Amino acid sequence: MSLKDGKITLSTKFMGSSEKYEDASIVMVGVPMDFTCSFRPGTRFGPQKIREVSIGIEEYSIYMNKSLEDYAYFDSGDLDLPFGNVEKSLEIIGQAAKEILEDNKLPLFIGGEHLISVPVIKEVYNKYGDDLIVIHFDAHADLREDYLGCPNSHASAIRRLVDFMPGKNIYQFGIRSGTKEEFEYAKANTNMYTIEVLEPLKKVVDKFKGRPVHFTLDIDVVDPAYANGTGTPEPGGISSKELIQALGVMRDLNIVGFDIVEVSPHYDQSDRTALLAAKVIRDMIMIMG
Ligand code: MN
Ligand code: MN
Repeated sequence: MSLKDGKITLSTKFMGSSEKYEDASIVMVGVPMDFTCSFRPGTRFGPQKIREVSIGIEEYSIYMNKSLEDYAYFDSGDLDLPFGNVEKSLEIIGQAAKEILEDNKLPLFIGGEHLISVPVIKEVYNKYGDDLIVIHFDAHADLREDYLGCPNSHASAIRRLVDFMPGKNIYQFGIRSGTKEEFEYAKANTNMYTIEVLEPLKKVVDKFKGRPVHFTLDIDVVDPAYANGTGTPEPGGISSKELIQALGVMRDLNIVGFDIVEVSPHYDQSDRTALLAAKVIRDMIMIMG
């Protein structure tokens, strides 16, 4: 490579992204939305930071014994969203997910706040129907009927899923924060495993085999000691190592959609949160591909 080629390593795309959408079986979309964050905003900067730090990790995964070179995925960049317009933004996100699914490719969305998962999962559900399982890792239950009167809030992301899909197909892990009502709602409507991720996941994973699975990962399931770059940090979480181990438990599942949300890079000078996200995305590409 010569300087004259101008081919310096630009970090505008996730490392190893295919050149063409047509060639890819997985399509990555960044969603720079943090309009309903209840505590500290900033997740709109998540997708770009994750791409930027992705070049700092290896394409080979020791956990999967695979390399990104063997996978065709396309990073289509960030969606243009009308700032502050939640309804219109959700519509644009859903449209993007629909397009990917209609092209028989798998959606991989990078938030942004957790509300962005709702239109994505809705489209995945529209494709796969009641067979679809949703696996949800989070510190928070995200089951509020509304937050300060707004049903479309990142604190209501999972509750909004129950508006269109059976709650009994939703499995929540690592939850350690929520209102009394949310935990009561979970008991009656979803499958919730509090505090722990790895052990309960190992116990139930066989049930998911042979079914289409969407995995929605809120990075704050991880303890702020390992992932402080998030808007609503919640002490008492799992380690980054446990999160990576949990991916190993899911490796034989038919993951048909994935989103990773709530990385808020400005609270993390070390970029360890974005790096963890990049590492998880790398291994998820291998699981999905
Ligand atoms: Mn969440
Ligand atoms: Mn959360």
